[in-house]
Amino acid sequence: MPAALPAARVIAIANQKGGVGKTTTTINLATALAAIGKRVLVIDLDPQGNASTGLGIPRADRRFGIYDVLFDGMALEDAAVVSAVPNLSIITSSVDLSGAEIELVAADNREFRLRDAVGKSALEYDYVLIDCPPALGLLTLNALVASHAVMVPLQCEFYALEGLSHLVRTIERVKRSFNPDLDIHGVVLTMFDKRNNLSDMVAADVRGFFGEKVYDTVIPRNVKVSEAPSHGKPVLIYDMRCPGSQAYIHLAGEVLRREKRLSA
Ligand code: ADP
Ligand code: MG
Repeated sequence: MPAALPAARVIAIANQKGGVGKTTTTINLATALAAIGKRVLVIDLDPQGNASTGLGIPRADRRFGIYDVLFDGMALEDAAVVSAVPNLSIITSSVDLSGAEIELVAADNREFRLRDAVGKSALEYDYVLIDCPPALGLLTLNALVASHAVMVPLQCEFYALEGLSHLVRTIERVKRSFNPDLDIHGVVLTMFDKRNNLSDMVAADVRGFFGEKVYDTVIPRNVKVSEAPSHGKPVLIYDMRCPGSQAYIHLAGEVLRREKRLSA
């Protein structure tokens, strides 16, 4: 029997496309939730480690990470490191994780490894946000199996909806076979460019397809958002007043309102 889902709410941030805003959304949503006093854990499940870098965790502090949790039975609490943002900890990724996709194929209980680790954890968090890699392989599957809900960032560009049916089918399959509790938390439109008609057309298309699942908040394309990771800070800390930060604060508000409904 897999472990039950933990008391913390677990949300996977997933889309098999790269560059759509998964990592940016993970770290800024995490920061916004932490800023209002929620205890938040980010799990960096992408071998590229962008969430670890974006939260300013130096390489020297990445001695242990999610690989050790998945393959060496390390407890989450031993793998987590505190970030510079109060209330926000992270389990970092490492290059080892790039082999994990293949190692998982032959592993026992391969779909449930993350869920078991999260479920066994004695750590007390209000939210666990999982930054998924840009693929629908076993790592993302582990995230979906371990989560109460999945949030899907979509970049406002011509191919936004391409590949989404594959993601939706994967979510349905996970629900049927592994995790009946899994909900789509919502779809967040990212990198919206108000000077570009295409952004409006894409947003309308996505709302037509996903209806109310699309959050009202749209994340604008904002240069401060793209600068922040090179300073090792979430944009919310780098420049709280910029439009990107303000949008993530609004998104966090919407997420919390939906949370009340989803967990009721
Ligand atoms: P993913 O995790 O899906 O690959 P990222 O969050 O890393 O996507 O975003 C891809 C790139 O786009 C990064 O360089 C990031 O800094 C940049 N980016 C993300 N959101 C925005 C935004 N709202 N405005 C400008 N640049 C952004
Ligand atoms: Mg990423």
